[in-house]
Amino acid sequence: MESSEIRPERHPDSDNSTDARPRTADVRVCDVLVIGGGPAGSTASTLLARDGWNVVMLEKDAHPRFHIGESLLPQNMPILQRLGVHDAVRDCSTLKLGADFPNDDGGYEVFDFSKSFRPQPEYSFQVKRADFDKILWDNAVAAGVDGRDRTKVDRVDFGDDGAITVHAGGLRYQPRYLLDASGRDTFIGGKLGLKRKNPRHASAAIFSHYRGVQRREGRDAGNVSIYRHSHGWIWVIPLSGGVTSVGAVCFPDYLKQRKGNQEEFLMQTLMGVAELDERMEGAERVAPIHVTGNYAYECTRMHGRHWSLLGDAYSFVDPMFSSGVFLAMKSAEDCAAMVDGILRDPKREAALQRQFQRYFDRGLDEFKWFIYRFTSPTMKHLFANRRDVFGVERAVVSMLSGDVFEARPILRRLRIFRAIYAITSLGMSGRALAAWRNRRRQLGVEMREETLHGDAP
Ligand SMILES: Cc1cc2nc3c(=O)[nH]c(=O)nc-3n(C[C@H](O)[C@H](O)[C@H](O)COP(=O)(O)OP(=O)(O)OC[C@H]3O[C@@H](n4cnc5c(N)ncnc54)[C@H](O)[C@@H]3O)c2cc1C
Repeated sequence: MESSEIRPERHPDSDNSTDARPRTADVRVCDVLVIGGGPAGSTASTLLARDGWNVVMLEKDAHPRFHIGESLLPQNMPILQRLGVHDAVRDCSTLKLGADFPNDDGGYEVFDFSKSFRPQPEYSFQVKRADFDKILWDNAVAAGVDGRDRTKVDRVDFGDDGAITVHAGGLRYQPRYLLDASGRDTFIGGKLGLKRKNPRHASAAIFSHYRGVQRREGRDAGNVSIYRHSHGWIWVIPLSGGVTSVGAVCFPDYLKQRKGNQEEFLMQTLMGVAELDERMEGAERVAPIHVTGNYAYECTRMHGRHWSLLGDAYSFVDPMFSSGVFLAMKSAEDCAAMVDGILRDPKREAALQRQFQRYFDRGLDEFKWFIYRFTSPTMKHLFANRRDVFGVERAVVSMLSGDVFEARPILRRLRIFRAIYAITSLGMSGRALAAWRNRRRQLGVEMREETLHGDAP
């Protein structure tokens, strides 16, 4: 790791001088307790430990472990640099220089990260999450975090006086601040009834890893490819070691029609896209098939008295623009700074929390606007027939790179894109209306979240 070997001095306001010191026989006190050791949890933990706080991070699994979410964005790169893991991640990843989408001529359009509206890292990485998450976890532990894996948080009690007690692994912890980074388990959001399913985006995903999938040529070899199919969309993500992640996101009514086993269903869906059929000729599956509910949700609030929700534990948007890991790490980085401020000056807690949620939700909304419309005929038309009027196309590349926070000039151009979208929709009103009706019908069918693991080949 690049800069993680130094164990920081404890913060003078820290409650403890050693890791999770027992207060009584079985109660341990710490400054911050983090539920979950994915990208959000490890990022927040590392930064808070570097600020000198006593941090405990609890993870129910053990790294390395499989996780979905393999395509990163350019805006992830500065965060990896600040964490000191950029080079370690690079060494086990595929270089990603853009995202491609099919055009009307049977070819594809590349949104190249070098064509962004303002300067940014012109690349990103495609990662195997088992490797990526382990690097982040190890980095946190090296920074002084008391990371405990195979330790599931079972219960959290919130006292009237604001005291928080976390029960895990037969122990009780009393942190001054609690961060929930439990991902789609949404531990606190679920317990407090804050989680709201987003009715505008219900879907499920079926995916696996393959060897022998044809890659794009030259500069495009590491692109994420996104295809539409009549019941959703498909991703192709080239990973290291000649492995490719391929998955289909499907509307629930289509999944309900499933006949045959998961493998047949997945192949039938993938083969329905002519270009993908060619790219996958002779490909061999090298991992189990996973099926997971993919519906979008968000929690009604991000913070409470001495607690905050990070990454997927707060909100999940459809992953078609590969925004999840970036949003998780961005929320974690900014939240770590916020928690540092609160622990130094507890009177500012409510104000800092309000300010943070407003800031974060604004960025999130930029992704949502595009995601909700991605499968519409209008968006299909605009993505396939691009023109950089007033820098709008470069602003879309910036959005696809994650550059939506503190990005006023980009957001202004994205508003122009919205106007172009509205005008184009009017011109295509018949098709747009039919697609809208169809989409409503597809979303009308409830989807039960399930994670099934198919047979390994
Ligand atoms: C089908 C699909 C495809 C996706 N593709 C992409 C993509 O290409 N690019 C991208 O950026 N994102 C993608 N995502 C989103 C991405 O997976 C998430 O946004 C990202 O992993 C969020 O990180 P996190 O740290 O918030 O949560 P997670 O990565 O889920 O980590 C949460 C951790 O908390 C642990 N945990 C949960 N409950 C407890 C508990 N009670 N006690 C202790 N530990 C607990 C879990 O074991 C887990 O390790 C995709 C998601 C899906 C569903």
